[in-house]
Amino acid sequence: MTYDPQNIFAKILRGEIPAAKVLETNHALAFLDIGPVNKGHVLVIPKAEAATLSDLPDDLAAHIGSLLPRLCRAVKTATGADALNIVVNHGEAAGQTVHHVHWHIIPRFSGDAVHWPWPHQSYAHDEMEQMRSRIAQSLDNANATDS
Ligand code: AMP
Repeated sequence: MTYDPQNIFAKILRGEIPAAKVLETNHALAFLDIGPVNKGHVLVIPKAEAATLSDLPDDLAAHIGSLLPRLCRAVKTATGADALNIVVNHGEAAGQTVHHVHWHIIPRFSGDAVHWPWPHQSYAHDEMEQMRSRIAQSLDNANATDS
């Protein structure tokens, strides 16, 4: 998807609108979600023009990944949460509303009002092998293009 530099997280990165920041590095920013699923819900974003996770360079994805364990521990300690959901909504059909890639760190409490888990489907006959093969083939093609 084409990156829109007027999206709300780009404005936060440029300092045009405020955010309740909890962690900042040269390449990433973590701040409180303004409409939390539960209080203490944190968003982590890269300082890069990437609309979705697919658009993010590997090194920046790795950097965000390296911050997640620390952020998870801090959110859990600060909120007293029993558990967390770490979620990336990738594209509108998956619920993405802000088109700058972001990770949600959502504190969860036993018996809270959040509906989980998702429904599960099953594979019929050789569907699972066909799907495995399609994804593996796509990875091979991408590797061939990358090298
Ligand atoms: P998503 O639906 O995965 O794109 O999530 C976007 C999230 O951004 C939502 O949870 C919003 O509550 C949150 N959000 C939108 N505007 C702001 C803002 N100005 N500051 C902090 N969080 C925001």
